[in-house]
Amino acid sequence: MTLEGKSALVTGSTSGIGLGIARALAGAGASVMLNGFGDASDIERLRAHLAEEMEVAVAYDGANVARPNEVARLVEKTQNVLGSLDILVNNAGIQFVAPIEEFPDEKWEDIIGINLSSVFYAMKAAIPAMKAKGWGRIINIASAHGLVASTNKIAYVAAKHGVVGATKVAALELANAGVTVNAICPGWVLTPLVERQLQDRAEQSGTELSVEKDKLLAEKQPMAKFTSPEAIGAMAFFLCSDEAETISGAALSIDGGWTAQ
Ligand code: NAD
Repeated sequence: MTLEGKSALVTGSTSGIGLGIARALAGAGASVMLNGFGDASDIERLRAHLAEEMEVAVAYDGANVARPNEVARLVEKTQNVLGSLDILVNNAGIQFVAPIEEFPDEKWEDIIGINLSSVFYAMKAAIPAMKAKGWGRIINIASAHGLVASTNKIAYVAAKHGVVGATKVAALELANAGVTVNAICPGWVLTPLVERQLQDRAEQSGTELSVEKDKLLAEKQPMAKFTSPEAIGAMAFFLCSDEAETISGAALSIDGGWTAQ
């Protein structure tokens, strides 16, 4: 199976899971619009390397996905530069950890904006052309925290539950438009987002990073193993296949048994 002739936008793809998904889609022949923050020369190196390695067109735009006008511009740029936007992966996300009574309002607003509102803005901008074409794939990266809660993550858990809800609404509205909409709900993936949490925990408890890694997994996942960004990329790739055309409105776990408990 190939994605040749298809174009994908993956938000937050300068790092971690988004990069894993961008690599999987590009590896299958899709042209890709990268998005996210980081050092400009590092990002340019990443873009050029991916284009050369996979022999596909790869572009980049640094839109802030929390801003509706920037997201609309990003979708339009993808359509103009790559010729279409067939696969939309809403992946950009951030985390902040504190009990509710100490949770700063600005952090709540940032997380709701980046992790949830962005999904609405991007779907709103991308859906008309997908409907007109009669083919599209929308993949929203939620989390195990889109299905169950943990302490100290009020904004993240609320946003990710919202992503699962928004996914279901879009799936219903697009059920007979040739466009599927699904959420992927990963457990622990060892990316900079989780590495920052591990570092904070190690500093607070005075333990080694490796000890915190084992503890983090043991607290939530029956399987003592991180999921790789490549595995999430493979799952996203399958959702883009013709065989996945009736999978829509699903919240698909890839979490080492976290939410089976
Ligand atoms: P990461 O920190 O490695 O990557 C986040 C990406 O989002 C980066 O490219 C960053 O530049 C980008 N980004 C941040 N704010 C942005 C903004 N305002 N506009 C555009 N881009 C922005 O994190 P990750 O772990 O790869 O997370 C990716 C997604 O996966 C997030 O939605 C996260 O909630 C979700 N997730 C992660 C895990 C995990 O264990 N790592 C588990 C479940 C879900």
